[in-house]
Amino acid sequence: MSQINIPGTVRRDEPLKQHTTFRVGGPADVYIRPTDIPGLQRTLALLRTEQIPVLILGGGANVVVSDRGVRGAVIDTTGLSRISVSDTTVRVEAGAMISDAAGETARRGLEGLEFLYSMPGTCGGAVWMNARCYGSSIDEVLDSVNYLNEASELCTLTAAHEEFDYKLSPFQLHDWTIVEAVFTLRYGDADELTHRMQQYYRDRCAKGHFTLPCAGSVFKNDRRFGAPSGKILDELGVRGMTCGGARVSDLHANIIVNTGDATASDIRTLTHRLRDLVRAERGWELDPEILFIGDWAEDPHTSI
Ligand SMILES: Cc1cc2nc3c(=O)[nH]c(=O)nc-3n(C[C@H](O)[C@H](O)[C@H](O)COP(=O)(O)OP(=O)(O)OC[C@H]3O[C@@H](n4cnc5c(N)ncnc54)[C@H](O)[C@@H]3O)c2cc1C
Repeated sequence: MSQINIPGTVRRDEPLKQHTTFRVGGPADVYIRPTDIPGLQRTLALLRTEQIPVLILGGGANVVVSDRGVRGAVIDTTGLSRISVSDTTVRVEAGAMISDAAGETARRGLEGLEFLYSMPGTCGGAVWMNARCYGSSIDEVLDSVNYLNEASELCTLTAAHEEFDYKLSPFQLHDWTIVEAVFTLRYGDADELTHRMQQYYRDRCAKGHFTLPCAGSVFKNDRRFGAPSGKILDELGVRGMTCGGARVSDLHANIIVNTGDATASDIRTLTHRLRDLVRAERGWELDPEILFIGDWAEDPHTSI
């Protein structure tokens, strides 16, 4: 590992709670934050040669990292944060905050990314998750994605929309690292876009998104159930349900918050209880949207 010599940060035993919006998670054996794409590429190639497991972390806004942390290396992409605009084409590096890309493009009168304003996380994480809110998904404006394949070679995927679905992208099916996304936007009115973004931000504030540490929706919505997961959970009266320091938000039944001293295990146990309750009461199997990552060995709970 001493051979990693790149612009950026390399640390051992880095506490990951500092890098996740839930503010939970044990240490990464090795934590690497490159600040350019060649550095990321060299790092990945070296780790693969040495057969060290790699986990890619963006803004940590959709993950619960286990209390035992992550064995192997965590590559934090947030050092790759360039956003460049040429006419209606926007190139966003993987680690740029997607909300910053939305704000920057709207300021220039470009329409298409504004629905993602104030959603936490990076561009890479948003593409990986095919992030969705306010009736739109990121694939609708995605033109192509540059990524590093399993052999750490730089490749381009032209975004074919049939490969994307609700909270699903082709990147979930491969060990590929997104380095940059290219979007094609439309000309719009900067003031109108700013107004819309403020509405989105206010709506998120009203739902308590920024009140306590969380990772947004715990469960995906499933059209087969005829109602959003939040409504189903609300009908079962789960708001305020707790496990240790984890609590179902008082403002939204599909959000778990860290009230201060939650562990990752608390969050996982509470997620299991919600899923089990819906299964018992409604017979439906909710699918978690938050990702449980890292070393969960010897955790007393069954895996989700
Ligand atoms: C308050 C709040 C509100 C939210 N609201 C929404 C919402 O409205 N809609 C929505 O869709 N989500 C929402 N989320 C969840 C989260 O914001 C999104 O899923 C976001 O896209 C995650 O991005 P990230 O960079 O934080 O990814 P991370 O959480 O860091 O990672 C998520 C997954 O993506 C992978 N990944 C990340 N970057 C890369 C990369 N460069 N290459 C390959 N794989 C990568 C990781 O390995 C991991 O598997 C919300 C979260 C919070 C905290």
